[in-house]
Amino acid sequence: MRHNIVAGNWKMNKNAAETTQLLADILNQLPSGKEVEVIVAPSFVNLSQAVNILEHTNVSVAAQNMHQAEGGAFTGEVSASMLSSVGVSNVILGHSERRAYFKETDALLANKVDTALKHEMRVIFCIGEELKDRQNKQHFNVVDTQLRDGLFHLGANAWVNIVLAYEPVWAIGTGETATPEQAQEMHHFIRETIQHQYGSSVAENVSILYGGSVKPDNAKEIFSKPDVDGGLIGGAALSAEDFVAIVSAVE
Ligand code: PEP
Repeated sequence: MRHNIVAGNWKMNKNAAETTQLLADILNQLPSGKEVEVIVAPSFVNLSQAVNILEHTNVSVAAQNMHQAEGGAFTGEVSASMLSSVGVSNVILGHSERRAYFKETDALLANKVDTALKHEMRVIFCIGEELKDRQNKQHFNVVDTQLRDGLFHLGANAWVNIVLAYEPVWAIGTGETATPEQAQEMHHFIRETIQHQYGSSVAENVSILYGGSVKPDNAKEIFSKPDVDGGLIGGAALSAEDFVAIVSAVE
């Protein structure tokens, strides 16, 4: 069901002690009574610890990636069943850093999505164009292809476990944010594309997060747009104060 979500992607930051501290600070400062789901995505090695700390709270845990295979000779990789076994039920897939630095393609990501869903995990699936795509006016085409090739093989029922994150690559970690109007325009396009493929019910029920240099001072305006259902936060998720201020910016 569509609802507001703010998820923090910690990337390759925070060791064990720092993870404990950041989680404690977030829990201390989080406002109560907000209609927003809060998710944090620490590194693999600290997931188990995060699940334990967050037990009996309203904050849930996501992995930042996983392998598509069930198991086997894939040195250094982590499987869906390993994540499930330590209580992780969300996974971020298709982050632009995975696509760029680890050459993850839409076809590979479609496999990862299938494996995650098979293990009853919820997927936060990232899509978004590069700067050159926007300059060449190809941004809608790029996002359309990522959606189709990564997710449109799914049946309509699977979409209850899909959350989308529109993250224009040119706005990630750059301090440059899409304007609220640019975000709304793309989120509307995404919802419309899903509606054409699956119908209104799936389109209206999927949460679409915006990601890309969201900070306490720009979150409120972006989140106020009708097709923006919260955010996927990178840099600002590493400060409890900033992250909680962003959570608080959700109407
Ligand atoms: C991200 O990496 O998902 C992200 C949105 O990063 P930042 O907020 O730092 O731009």
